[in-house]
Amino acid sequence: MKIILLGAPGAGKGTQAVRIQEKFQLKHISTGDMFRANIKEGTEIGKLAKSYIDAGKLVPDDVTCEIVKQSLEKVNGGYLLDGFPRTLFQAEELDKFAEIDLCLNIDVDTSLLLDRICGRRVCACGASYHVSTLGGKTTCEKCGKPLYQRDDDNPETVKARLATYEKQTAPLVDYYGKQGKLVTVKCGTETPDEVFEKVCAVLENFNK
Ligand code: ADP
Ligand code: ZN
Repeated sequence: MKIILLGAPGAGKGTQAVRIQEKFQLKHISTGDMFRANIKEGTEIGKLAKSYIDAGKLVPDDVTCEIVKQSLEKVNGGYLLDGFPRTLFQAEELDKFAEIDLCLNIDVDTSLLLDRICGRRVCACGASYHVSTLGGKTTCEKCGKPLYQRDDDNPETVKARLATYEKQTAPLVDYYGKQGKLVTVKCGTETPDEVFEKVCAVLENFNK
């Protein structure tokens, strides 16, 4: 299975991706994670990406398409694209170097997103939590490492990211709808496990 995870910042793409990759044995490819790894290592791509990420803007298409293309060349088997494509240009490029089976759109009420992202605490292992459920804990339940807040998870940047999503990424819903590849999972205040049940129902049905 070759799947795209689509959804606004804070919709829970990363949270679901961790679960999906385990259960369905798909390689998780997250452009956000790749950019953050580059920033940490201080590479040229990292330096460039940081200036856009901090402003809540998208990293330029050419750079983004290139890192995805390169990482797909190393994958044989199914994968899960998390955070790519994010523009129509990226979607059209992707069609040139990959054949996607399904675009899973995680659709969350916009009013919930700001609080979700600003309250998010993440771990280097990929786990992600909300402060309201941590009860003051500062380490990861899964691996014990310290939790931290992403630099771009502050109210100002989040507002810019949400606007960027509406303008540049939301049109992809139509793009994949027209290709007959779109499945939307609508969720509001469900827990991540409840959302995952819905996601599994879609993917198991598709796998048959
Ligand atoms: P979120 O979905 O919560 O916004 P991500 O980790 O997917 O978080 O992305 C973080 C940032 O990385 C984005 O705001 C953007 O600046 C950059 N980024 C990630 N994926 C892409 C992409 N496909 N195209 C351009 N920029 C991207
Ligand atoms: Zn962890």
